[in-house]
Amino acid sequence: MDPLIITVAGIGAELTREQQPNLPLSPDEIASDAADCAEAGASIYHLHVRDHEGRPTMQVDRFRAAMEAIRSQTDLIVQFTSGGAVSDDEEARIAPLELRPEMASLTTGTVNFGEEVFWNPFSLVTRFYMRMQQLEIVPEFEIFEAGMIASAERLYVEHGDGHHRHYDFVLGVPGGMPAWPDALDFLASHLPAGASWSCTGIGRAHLPVATAAIAGGGHVRTGFEDVRFVAPGELAASNGQLIRRVAEMARTQGRPIASREQTRQLLGVQ
Ligand code: ZN
Repeated sequence: MDPLIITVAGIGAELTREQQPNLPLSPDEIASDAADCAEAGASIYHLHVRDHEGRPTMQVDRFRAAMEAIRSQTDLIVQFTSGGAVSDDEEARIAPLELRPEMASLTTGTVNFGEEVFWNPFSLVTRFYMRMQQLEIVPEFEIFEAGMIASAERLYVEHGDGHHRHYDFVLGVPGGMPAWPDALDFLASHLPAGASWSCTGIGRAHLPVATAAIAGGGHVRTGFEDVRFVAPGELAASNGQLIRRVAEMARTQGRPIASREQTRQLLGVQ
């Protein structure tokens, strides 16, 4: 089994400071959050950014400032969201890729997202994917539904350059695939040979999904975007605390944590 890659999704587009007072928002806050997560064992920072009022934005300048802040403090792999918030349009979502982060998320299909719709028609997904290929950005396919695996494979067959394929299963979003106990095995069994996968359970599904992913050879994403409590009614003190919890679970199961260098090798990130 490969060593465990831990990704921190530390910000997201939904959570507010009122809901989680420890949410990092400014570039300085993101940098110290990232440094703490790196020390705790994370390899990848999945990045969303906010404007000066804390609202989600896809402004290129905000991504640049956050990426530079993370890089000034850590050697974490920076992974931009290309999903943004469900209200962001296609042009806004693709623009930050020009900064050439090492990785970017890519959701390969449309899904209901609570009362809203996370809109990803295949033409948009293809455009984003091809731009990532041109800029040598490693995609992480975000899978909310089983059919998105097939769509990712279609992209790879039609436009891929032979790169390593890495997926992240996002389970428990209202409207997407629930964190059913057999969901992970089912999804992982339909990946192409040699692919790697990570997983995150949203909210209450978080710990069961992380436990199963560690045991099943997958990798884990955690952080405020996906979970804000460490126990019923107890808010997490930091993203680092959530990373340490996953690292401790891995140690209990005898699974080593991947270094940043190992993660780069496993995922084909330069
Ligand atoms: Zn995200």
